[in-house]
Amino acid sequence: MDFAPAIRRPDDPHERDIVVLFAGSALVVADPAAPRLPVRAELGRHVPATTVHVGRIGGTAVETAALAEGADLPAGLALEPLRPLHGRLRDAEWALAGRAFQLAEWDRTHRFCGVCGAATVRLDDERARSCPSCGYRAYPRHSPAVIMLVSRGDEILLGRSAHFPPGMYSTLAGFVDPGEGAEEAVRREVREEAGIEITEPRWFGSQSWPFPHSLMLGFTAEWAAGEIQLDPSELEGLGWFGRDDLPLLPPPSSIARRLIDGWLGA
Ligand SMILES: [Zn+2]
Repeated sequence: MDFAPAIRRPDDPHERDIVVLFAGSALVVADPAAPRLPVRAELGRHVPATTVHVGRIGGTAVETAALAEGADLPAGLALEPLRPLHGRLRDAEWALAGRAFQLAEWDRTHRFCGVCGAATVRLDDERARSCPSCGYRAYPRHSPAVIMLVSRGDEILLGRSAHFPPGMYSTLAGFVDPGEGAEEAVRREVREEAGIEITEPRWFGSQSWPFPHSLMLGFTAEWAAGEIQLDPSELEGLGWFGRDDLPLLPPPSSIARRLIDGWLGA
């Protein structure tokens, strides 16, 4: 069923509302053995007094909020980290939870004005919190990042960060600097992380990545010059891999994997 985002809900809270609650980066799920997003009736008094309206899925409103610290949950509900729930929650619910998380986190962290310190209020005609004292407006944050598959003949360039699961390699990636275009960021990241030059990056596709608020911009490019050099301050492993000697790859939920699968299918 299609999700339609909205800022203000037109009706009163309802027991059937889907309520996406977070404690830190963990999500409240119902039926932990076969997890799903809970509805208001199941959460009862645990739904905070104010929630952020996310939108509607079918006729059902979706609300989100951050739970108070140390809240005890009713039986049948559990807190689980969002990322590993991919593949366990239905895809549409996981995407909805990622969207809600970014809104709940923005709302939770912008309660006071960054300019003058006064309490902000949430606007209902714009996705923003406004300062009644100085007029400053805080919008949900996005951090653009580039991710790129670099190929050379029948091999692709993959690297591994120290925080990856053992044995896993992925495409190179990095945040876009202020003032920088996405293609510039691709060339810079490849230069910094691998020491090589590449051809003009080609657009591949994008993915929202709510950890905590990245927008991943995917590109492909080909090697143009230079030999790869590992910078241990950036990566702990780096190499060219052929289709028959690929290492452990990122999960199918990631744009990194879609980039690699796209190359494998080519
Ligand atoms: Zn202010």
